Amino acid sequence: MARSIETLSVHGGELRDKAHDSLVTPLILATAYPFENTDELHRYFRGEHIRGEEYGRYGNPTQQVAEAKLSALEGPLPNGGETDALLSATGMSAIVTTLLAMVKPGTHLVITADSYRKTRVFVREFLAKFGVEHTSCEPSVEGIAAALKPNTKLIITESPTNPYLNCIDLEALVKLAKENRVKTMIDATLATPYNLQPLSYGVDLVVHSATKYLGGHNDLMAGAVIGAKPLIDAIREHQGMFGALAAPFTAYMLIRGLKTFAVRMKHQNESGQRVAEFLEQHPKVERVWYPGLASHPAHAIAKKQMRGFSSLISFTIKGGLVEGSKVVDACEIPYLAPSLGGPESLIEQPALMSYYDKAPEERAALGIRENLIRMSVGLEGTDDLIADLNQALNKI
Ligand SMILES: *Cc1c(COP(=O)(O)O)cnc(C)c1O
Repeated sequence: MARSIETLSVHGGELRDKAHDSLVTPLILATAYPFENTDELHRYFRGEHIRGEEYGRYGNPTQQVAEAKLSALEGPLPNGGETDALLSATGMSAIVTTLLAMVKPGTHLVITADSYRKTRVFVREFLAKFGVEHTSCEPSVEGIAAALKPNTKLIITESPTNPYLNCIDLEALVKLAKENRVKTMIDATLATPYNLQPLSYGVDLVVHSATKYLGGHNDLMAGAVIGAKPLIDAIREHQGMFGALAAPFTAYMLIRGLKTFAVRMKHQNESGQRVAEFLEQHPKVERVWYPGLASHPAHAIAKKQMRGFSSLISFTIKGGLVEGSKVVDACEIPYLAPSLGGPESLIEQPALMSYYDKAPEERAALGIRENLIRMSVGLEGTDDLIADLNQALNKI
């Protein structure tokens, strides 16, 4: 019987009988796994003796449970095929390892222009050095269609995006990709598998920064890529060479954090919606971007394919950069920090946090408004957050 995401968060991927009769998945720190004797070694390398690990860079029992849990949360493939997940040291290492596994000189990639900044920099500045071509396009299915070339291998996109929470129509995206025999990779960090299940639409690879909602406690860095097992096997081969593993302790912490994943997401979806609605009617607020609001340009797409809309909200205030700083500094509950998805609410001005190095004109060209504020709604009481934002906004 298919289990709910709440049950999968707690039990998904875990062995019922664990080592030492432990109730929770143990943290295994070993770097190597001894063979009983030379005969067992021979049988292992001939594929006749199936056992866990050999050397820590190729796998770890705690990591494997974290991967199985992520795979379970992401849901089945539409064709019923087996999925797998690869855990990585960070979201970026998951993205980099995946892309390096997919390209060779002459490969063409299509990347939507509002993808995560470091992903774009990696494609534009690093992969280009090795003869990998790319086209950066408007973040829509039409934009992607116009950017495809005969040598396009992969479409890299994101949903929702940061900071304007644009969402891409997955049904239309996959149809386009299949017609053109191109693979699709989506960074669904902001949605999480609670709110969006891209594999069910036929997307080939889903990547996450598990640093955000999946870890969920602002205390670990990890990333993951999930897809059909043969594709993940190929990426895992590269991981064994690049070595960008998540440490066993990180895997343990991720399993622990994921136990409350569904419960946290339910709260954060509700709280995000209420805070966005509050902001939208506040006289000091100019505009709010949140996919759960009818005013958001991608609301119809988001509503069609998402269970909820997570808790990242962007808004402009009536004022400029300085007034924005005043609001941020007047907040008593959220911390002034980058990142998102944890229990502590975080607030920041993208113009200063992610684009400090850019002049205002360059920021404008990138669509980063001077009066923009981004907030990650955490797990605090929603009324407390609304009251706090209200007093902070009323200071300008
Ligand atoms: C944070 C983030 C990343 C990078 O993840 P790290 O764990 O920081 O390496 C990638 N994509 C999105 C959408 C993110 O929010």
